[in-house]
Amino acid sequence: MIKLTIDGQEVEVEPGTTILEAARTLGTEVPHYCYHQDIGIDGNCRICLVEVNGNTDKLTISCKQPCGEGMDVKTESDAVVKARKGVMEFLLINHPLDCTICDQAGECPLQDYSYHYGSGDSRFVEQKRNKRKKVEFSDKVVFDGERCILCTRCTRFFEEVRDCRPIGVENMGGKSTITLGPNGPIEDPYQLNIVDICPVGALTSQDFRFKQRIWFMDFAETVCPGCAKGCNITAGAYQGKLLRFVPRRNPDVNKSWMCDDGRLSYDDYNITERTRGAKVAGADASFEEALAKIGELVGDGSGVAVLASTSDTCEELHAIRTWAGKVGVTHLWHGAETWEGDDFLKEEDATPNTAGAQRLGFTPVPTEAPSLRGLVVAGDCPVPPALLADLDFLVLQAPVAGELGEAAMVLLPGLTRVEKKGTWVNCLGHAQKVQPALEPGPGVREDWELWRDLAGEDWTTLKAVTRAMEAASGSSSDTPLVASES
Ligand code: SF4
Ligand code: SF4
Repeated sequence: MIKLTIDGQEVEVEPGTTILEAARTLGTEVPHYCYHQDIGIDGNCRICLVEVNGNTDKLTISCKQPCGEGMDVKTESDAVVKARKGVMEFLLINHPLDCTICDQAGECPLQDYSYHYGSGDSRFVEQKRNKRKKVEFSDKVVFDGERCILCTRCTRFFEEVRDCRPIGVENMGGKSTITLGPNGPIEDPYQLNIVDICPVGALTSQDFRFKQRIWFMDFAETVCPGCAKGCNITAGAYQGKLLRFVPRRNPDVNKSWMCDDGRLSYDDYNITERTRGAKVAGADASFEEALAKIGELVGDGSGVAVLASTSDTCEELHAIRTWAGKVGVTHLWHGAETWEGDDFLKEEDATPNTAGAQRLGFTPVPTEAPSLRGLVVAGDCPVPPALLADLDFLVLQAPVAGELGEAAMVLLPGLTRVEKKGTWVNCLGHAQKVQPALEPGPGVREDWELWRDLAGEDWTTLKAVTRAMEAASGSSSDTPLVASES
């Protein structure tokens, strides 16, 4: 371990740790543009300069300099503050003053650093440089050359993370700009990540451009519902409508990235027509009447199967299996949905909680399924047509009933994947917390509450279900079912 002092505080770090990273461990954020935790170091923006061992003539870039034994680092000395102001003035010389119409406003390090570290006025009286604006890099990404500060995060993302070079830097000095390569528009299926990592508004998403100012939006820190990888995301909504998913860093799952398909799937959850209230034999019913009817239909559970969705949370699945166990239903199956996966993040399993369902005892529908008297579909999942043949009754609990709803003897509402709260276990075995990004509105109850009432349990909170699930199945660090508090 290496011992050094940063702003008078002693810190011990692993050999190879940079000054910027060591400062972070003390809660000191050194400003930076070109540095990014999940891309290699370049050291081109010079805003992360710090003073080492009292050397004020030659400041050091903290993103690249490894810590040394006994170093004395200052991140806020007079020399550092003066140098930062100089870098800010240099970057802003040609940057357009268009924050009022820029999508990055509100989440822009250039804006934030101008406020914290800039000089507050400009000595620049010359004409600002003009560069290309609104260049379509693809049908997903738009580039504004005047806003670009040439940090090269975007080009390095493709080179280092995606092993391709659809864009690069052309020309030299003041004429340098990011440009498309000879093969035309960017085709990479992870390209929207460059919009997130661009530290200014030079790269914007065709999908999100001009939709909403971020300070008017509500955000939920949750998990992408698109596939079994469970990339950590922040879901952004405005007035009950989802407007975007962006990745949230988790070094063990998705680092800072997500696939474009998962990112752009947010609109699938802005459903306009949904199941509200309960129905028995096509007629409106109270929840109590509907649950009583299910009890009557299922009887002793013989010849009945449960088909649960692998987008149901572990807590919902525990409530379902508790009810099934009490009434003697022994066939606990889970649904399946697939799409094309890849070798980076995207999994072929297009549902977020298959691992959780299997840990809780749900199995895939057998190829040779026994003939059934009744089927209880719990959650949003495709139902194999063979299961529907010769049924006496069908119970369906889902956010959107579709055609299947017409065949259901009992129909109950359900939550979409972005309205759920609880735990999903991803394909790597991580139990992750899911938070609701939207409210379902009237006539919809929490899924776990419906199954709890059917099971006759007295869980009054989701936490109580989690505790009961943990007691019944165990949750260890090797096979967690319960997300750790974070
Ligand atoms: S477009 Fe953005 S990420 Fe790319 S070099 Fe310019 S400022 Fe950096
Ligand atoms: S890889 Fe899967 S979990 Fe990650 S963003 Fe894509 S769809 Fe969502």
